[in-house]
Amino acid sequence: MIAAAGSGQRLGAGGPKAFVEVAGRRLIEWSLAALAEAASVGEVVLVVPAGFEASVDAVAVAGGATRAESVVAGLGAVSGDVVVIQDAARPLVTAKLIDRVVERLVDSGADGVIAAAPVSDTLKRAGEGGAVGGTVDRAGLWAAQTPQAFRVEALRAAQLAASEAGELATATDEAWLIERVGGTVLLEEVGAPNLKVTSEADLAVAAALLRG
Ligand code: C5P
Repeated sequence: MIAAAGSGQRLGAGGPKAFVEVAGRRLIEWSLAALAEAASVGEVVLVVPAGFEASVDAVAVAGGATRAESVVAGLGAVSGDVVVIQDAARPLVTAKLIDRVVERLVDSGADGVIAAAPVSDTLKRAGEGGAVGGTVDRAGLWAAQTPQAFRVEALRAAQLAASEAGELATATDEAWLIERVGGTVLLEEVGAPNLKVTSEADLAVAAALLRG
């Protein structure tokens, strides 16, 4: 599944981010190409902004107000036992990385496996009036990325539990939904650039890397 229903407001491209062109393709098409090449992927479901369903050449459903709600909508169109969720905003994803997270999920007893990278910056907590309030020990901290693979049954149960608790909309990834009900999620170290396109500068960096 590709989550591509964001509005792209922070990018300011005047339309949904997933449809912005980068290095000769629409952003969403980089993820689509990687999924098409991945041996572990059968069907592909795209979650797009309402009204954009016909502008892609794949099964497409309209997304929701938040990313987590978009993934719920997309999961309704998934028929397999395992789902791998990819953000359209990460165009550097490779078929190899997608296969790695899916295969690790299948080979382990875990409920989820997520692409992630150890945090390399020194982390500060903001305090009063723009001052540093403290330093967070970065040892053991990882930044969560996509792709993220899950057992569909476990993810559906976790989404329902969060929805019933009124916490679904606050989820910024599906791994947290599984974590909050006590499930097991494994970290798969990415080991290569897998940046998330948020700003125009990110778009330029992504384009340079994709062209390379
Ligand atoms: O907004 P952000 O960049 O964090 O979004 C991450 C991914 O989630 C993007 O690929 C975006 O298209 C998707 N998204 C979505 N539905 C929303 C908001 C974001 O599918 N309502």
